[in-house]
Amino acid sequence: MKILLLGSTGSIGASACACIRRHPGRFSLAGLAANRNADTLIRQIEAFSPRWVYVASPDAADKVRPALPSSTTLFEGPAGLTGIVEEADYDVLLNALVGAVGFAPTVTALKRNKRVALANKESLVIGGDVITRLLDQGHGELIPVDSEHSAILQCITGETRESVERIVLTASGGPFRELPSDQFAAITPAQALDHPTWSMGNKITIDAGTLMNKGFEVIEAHHLFRLPYDRLRVVVHPQSIVHSMVVFRDGAVMAQCGVPDMELPIQYALSYPERLPLDSRRLDLAAVGALTFFEPDVEKFRCLKLCIEAGRAGGTHPAVLNAANEIAVASFLEGSVRFDQIPAIVERALESHEAGRADSVEAVLEADRRTRADVLATLQEKQRA
Ligand code: MG
Repeated sequence: MKILLLGSTGSIGASACACIRRHPGRFSLAGLAANRNADTLIRQIEAFSPRWVYVASPDAADKVRPALPSSTTLFEGPAGLTGIVEEADYDVLLNALVGAVGFAPTVTALKRNKRVALANKESLVIGGDVITRLLDQGHGELIPVDSEHSAILQCITGETRESVERIVLTASGGPFRELPSDQFAAITPAQALDHPTWSMGNKITIDAGTLMNKGFEVIEAHHLFRLPYDRLRVVVHPQSIVHSMVVFRDGAVMAQCGVPDMELPIQYALSYPERLPLDSRRLDLAAVGALTFFEPDVEKFRCLKLCIEAGRAGGTHPAVLNAANEIAVASFLEGSVRFDQIPAIVERALESHEAGRADSVEAVLEADRRTRADVLATLQEKQRA
């Protein structure tokens, strides 16, 4: 099975490379795509000799070019990302890009009737309607990589859609679960980047701290499993052992458990519906002791509430929410926005936005572009004032 890996130098990308290396008879790496981390990309090129490579940054492309085998095609620049997804020969697109930039590649691969192993959240958050239609009309396949959605897929495999009553997504609650909300203004990027149970990239770790990430996962679950929002729940589970649960119509609850480790959901998305061996740390429930569960505090973590409201409202609302959040998080990491301002920035963007239908890639990306420009302009105006 030939894999095209987008976002190869990030944390999911590294785990995916490890998984491919573990099963050389089964998986091969057809192509790699990265943003600007030339050193890691060069190491991966040396290890896998991929036939196709994409790199976004022109400086990184200059560094990578001399390291390429003669048979490798290099794609560059904004158009190159679509180019590699359109032209490369692969069976599975593993999309681990961060941000709205991941949406168009998912669409392109589904149009080519490929399997998409999806770790990019934004594809379904901003473009759920477009992707659902492509899945209904074509022969493409969408398999989630995120631990929660993978857990749900593992619980429902072998069941019928009608037998599912409810989905319960678990959330670690992030590093600020117990911090009083009046202290949120003082949270520094370093504190927000220190996640208690999962090690992830910077953007998603901040989203985990605001619970925006969990809100995204609710929107994704709505599209992936075709359930209305009133049948999707979030429960805080600080130990991150239960990765999510499904409640069936006879009251049975199925949960998928394990130590927090992304290698399992990545491997499962590639081999689904088959399970391959994985020599990882095993869950020892007696050593864990207690598993605890709480209702999420949506007044303290307003991003979760904003997400679910935007999801219910539908159309371009989720695209606006996501774009405003991307700018707000980048600004927080740069130090120009406080942690407690993130939900306010998102809320303002949603209020000032004129919603439309999100039934084409262009409509979604236009809402994305416009929101980014508006939010950036508002933030810059504030800084000057
Ligand atoms: Mg997750």
